[in-house]
Amino acid sequence: MLAAILAPPEPVGTSPGARFVQKAITVLLIGAPVAAVGAVVWLALPPTLLDVALMLAMTAVAMLGVTVGFHRMLTHRAFTAAPWLRDLLVWAGATSLEGSPVGWVAMHREHHHYSDTGKDPHSPHAYGSVALGTVRGFVHAHMGWLIEGFPAKPEKYAPDLLADRRLMRINTWWWIAPVLTVLVLPVAVGWAAGGARGAATTLVWAGLLRVGLVHHFSWSVNSVCHLWGDRPFETRDHSRNVSWLALVSAGESWHNAHHAFPTLARHGVDEGQMDLAGDLIALLERRGWVTNAKWPNPEMLDARRRSA
Ligand SMILES: [Zn+2]
Ligand SMILES: [Zn+2]
Repeated sequence: MLAAILAPPEPVGTSPGARFVQKAITVLLIGAPVAAVGAVVWLALPPTLLDVALMLAMTAVAMLGVTVGFHRMLTHRAFTAAPWLRDLLVWAGATSLEGSPVGWVAMHREHHHYSDTGKDPHSPHAYGSVALGTVRGFVHAHMGWLIEGFPAKPEKYAPDLLADRRLMRINTWWWIAPVLTVLVLPVAVGWAAGGARGAATTLVWAGLLRVGLVHHFSWSVNSVCHLWGDRPFETRDHSRNVSWLALVSAGESWHNAHHAFPTLARHGVDEGQMDLAGDLIALLERRGWVTNAKWPNPEMLDARRRSA
């Protein structure tokens, strides 16, 4: 995801210089929310109610943009959206600062293609399963791969998106979304509400910390959800269902179900499984803005269900 930060509009160069710049920017982006936590403690910057509200709202926009837009719509074609809605979902996903839409999709399709094998870009099983290997694997799958890894080739994994001129226009300008929502909007809103100090607290809480939350919620699906949890369905990989991440991941943590049925619009396929992204797609379908949504049915689920 974030490793593809320099990908748009062209694939990342693989020269040592380009790789160094890419790694430096990735480290900076991973470190910015950590620095923001330091600033909160060091400068005593408690959030205002406005900061918390904006932080939660922008976290929801980014998470739903990534899960509904980048993941279920673009990567797996789980439904078809009206053109205006498709644009909106992609722009919302771009606010997550997880790289360009095309770079994100290429990387995620590569993950499904090689899941938990040696060619998976972010498998936590890359270092074996003994204690130290699990720790190293967790760090690698959570964020180490962003620094170490090579972006997946869009020509190989996302030719359908490269041929989509309307989407490629957003792909060229995707970075405007995080610039506006991480920096410009928080500073403007905070300044209007409380001058310089207001701008500082809103930037830290609703800008930098918000990005950190979204990143770690997303990255947990790659790390936690391939290590610990239930495996109700037969898959070739180590994907798991992790109920305690369901809310913050907007339903993506039903990851074993997702690997078993990648094209479904809903990942929380069993009774009582919270899936906000799936709920949103169902709502949009009722409005008539989404068509061709692929929903689970009991026969399909039972055919892949593992015996207890
Ligand atoms: Zn996975
Ligand atoms: Zn997927």
